[in-house]
Amino acid sequence: MSASAASPAVSKPRTGLASYAVRAETGRGRRLPEAVSRYRNDFQRDRDRIIHSSAFRRLEYKTQVFVNHEGDLFRTRLTHSLEVAQIARTLARELRLNEDLIEAIALAHDLGHTPFGHAGQDALNACMRPYGGFEHNAQSLRVVDELECKYAAFRGLNLLFETREGILKHCSVRRARALGDVGERFLKRQQPSLEAQLANFADEIAYNNHDVDDGLRAGLITFEQLRGVPLFRRHHDLVLETYPRATRRQQRHETIRRMISTLISDLLEASQQRLETVKPRHVNDVRALNKPLVGYSEAQRKQNLALKQFLNRKLYRHPKVVRMSAQSQRIVADLFKRYMKNPQLIPAEFVQDSPNPTDLPRLVADYIAGMTDRFALTEHKKLR
Ligand code: MG
Repeated sequence: MSASAASPAVSKPRTGLASYAVRAETGRGRRLPEAVSRYRNDFQRDRDRIIHSSAFRRLEYKTQVFVNHEGDLFRTRLTHSLEVAQIARTLARELRLNEDLIEAIALAHDLGHTPFGHAGQDALNACMRPYGGFEHNAQSLRVVDELECKYAAFRGLNLLFETREGILKHCSVRRARALGDVGERFLKRQQPSLEAQLANFADEIAYNNHDVDDGLRAGLITFEQLRGVPLFRRHHDLVLETYPRATRRQQRHETIRRMISTLISDLLEASQQRLETVKPRHVNDVRALNKPLVGYSEAQRKQNLALKQFLNRKLYRHPKVVRMSAQSQRIVADLFKRYMKNPQLIPAEFVQDSPNPTDLPRLVADYIAGMTDRFALTEHKKLR
């Protein structure tokens, strides 16, 4: 693999935004039009609103694989979101896409996550099944559209269509119908902007690699096991060849950073090739396609898949993780039952701010989804 992410594979000059980037002039704007800022463009403003939201601050105490109190060294959703933003900006810059937009999407993409990561979301979804279900990704959009409510002039953060489009990665047809503009593409089977497509890959590159890192440090997976994964083995061999005396900690970091670089380079090269073949001239040309333009080469896609499958088998289904997940699911299910039975336990201010104060199941789901791991644990102890 050459490092040709930086090589002149693009025929156009590498300055300014590409014609297919999202631009303010051709954007669909905000639900409630606002005056432009003197100092920031609209995309930067969206990013800043996300950073200043309370849901963003809570990401610090939420986790995806490891529960927050398990150790201070593991990724939280906040550090994960920062890693996603860093990778996403690199990808966008290289393809001359809108960096401010992709940063906003990356920082907001996990805002709707429940406490206790995927275990928490599965439990909440199960509780909500009779009431329309719970999807963490749709919840991220709900957070920025409805649940944040500190602006006097509007509900939510009044973000740009393009930011909201990027936050909503997947969505059921039923939900898409209810969502209006951002739901349309799921009904028409169209694509989001390239910025949105790339942010999605940045998310995956970040979590696969940091889960390898956290998994190794937690002692749940080993170098020996990982050497069965071609992507890891190739880079680990390279590290050992270059630094035969590297410590395990150095080997871990040097291997992972090379894996990330390889995934980024391949993604950029393969996506650039598709861009050159399809030649979209406008973001609407990108949207009208029936499949995404961003993606790995076939060989890299397979290697990446092997890594994901390894993590699925060895880390996410590790007995220790499974035990932790089962406990988390019980906590979420207990909380749901308790608040459904005793809605007066939900703080009055939260009910007052709710977009659906009379829809009890949705109110309870929003309340639980907003909890951090430790708040959910404390509440659970109180309720017993
Ligand atoms: Mg994520």
